[in-house]
Amino acid sequence: MTVTRFAPSPTGHLHIGNLRTALHNWMYAKRHGGRFLLRIDDTDPARSEERFVDAIRTDLAWLGLVPDGEERQSARFDRYEAVFAELVAAGRIYPAYETPEELDLRRKVLAGRGLPPVYDRAALALTDADRARMEGEGRTPHWRFRLDHAPIEWDDMVRGAQRFDGALLSDPVVRRADGSWLYLLPSVIDDADMAVTHVVRGEDHVSNTATQMQMFAAMGATPPTFAHEALLVGSEGKLSKRLGSLGIDHFRGAGIEPEAVVALLARLGTSDPVEPVTDRQTLIDTFDFARFGRAPARFDEAELAQLNTRIVHQLPFERVAATLPADMDAAAWDAVRGNLDRVGDAADWWRVVTGPVEPAAFDAEDRAFLTTAARVARSIDWDAPWAALTGALKAETGRKGKALFLPLRLALTGRAHGPDMAALLPLIGRERALTRLE
Ligand code: GLU
Repeated sequence: MTVTRFAPSPTGHLHIGNLRTALHNWMYAKRHGGRFLLRIDDTDPARSEERFVDAIRTDLAWLGLVPDGEERQSARFDRYEAVFAELVAAGRIYPAYETPEELDLRRKVLAGRGLPPVYDRAALALTDADRARMEGEGRTPHWRFRLDHAPIEWDDMVRGAQRFDGALLSDPVVRRADGSWLYLLPSVIDDADMAVTHVVRGEDHVSNTATQMQMFAAMGATPPTFAHEALLVGSEGKLSKRLGSLGIDHFRGAGIEPEAVVALLARLGTSDPVEPVTDRQTLIDTFDFARFGRAPARFDEAELAQLNTRIVHQLPFERVAATLPADMDAAAWDAVRGNLDRVGDAADWWRVVTGPVEPAAFDAEDRAFLTTAARVARSIDWDAPWAALTGALKAETGRKGKALFLPLRLALTGRAHGPDMAALLPLIGRERALTRLE
């Protein structure tokens, strides 16, 4: 069974790039009839906050990405401790005593010689006596994972064949001197224990993956399949501060529907066109990492706003009813939705329907025409009033086109533009229409 996971650290709000990763994990699981897990990466108690955990859940719910299970790293420290002990006993994790300043100095020396900043493994050469002496001096070790100096390869669903040389990588630090965990090892333990089959994340994790491949092997676990996506950038081509701060609150505040966010993020950076698709199954059915490009995906808020408009025009009443004015019904929604950029704007048109409307200023000729219109409106059949009214008025006054329609629209709605009058007039109804025309 396909199992994916979205693994945010609850140290802030999810931004558009995180939401995209969450969506793709969800879509991949749905496409393959699998499970989508939410894993809260809260190993860092100083930076993790419960309010962000709640916000993550709320944001995913707003997008309709319901996890099939939720895990928390903070509940699994015993398990990490056990695996850690095994890997220490097996010599795959070793203590190192260098201070950050010492490491920095060594990196500078290497850089000065034109060499890559790879950790020299000095700690591996320490004897028991050396370690005892350093601990006697008050040094506590941090812990590194000893990489095999061998090729590391995997077939990435987005990037294709990947190859790293273990000898050119530093043994990664997996645990700090204060005992706290870095992200690398707990993530591998969880992915193995939770039978995660596919890890979908940003390409900023590619070199982590190289080291994690060996951690899976050291645990005797089969690594999952990886999909490292090109990052999301702003329309100006960079991962801007602004993009990093755009989250659900912003989009909701701007009147963007979850369906628009989903439709855009599902296709951005792929070879499939971004379209106002409101049916998720369509998006799921066409979702395929083979269609993802290697170039950064460009996120443009204006594109999202346009997509939103096209999506609002399609949304059925049931999907929006809860956010509309209480007495606004399906007929009213159908009449106005084609004129909206945002669902929230429906309330403005509903006020136009229910009135009162600000009467427009008319010249004498139009006033006479509207008096005729009021009289005609009393006698027509109100089953299809707009066609009946304009048909009768055309015959009686000889007016046509704008001269016929505009004064009527202005008198009936107070506005020069708006939804189709044939749909609007029945909502306004006979009594209000007569008052407005008079
Ligand atoms: N907590 C990690 C992050 O947010 C998870 C990365 C991963 O998906 O493995 O970067």
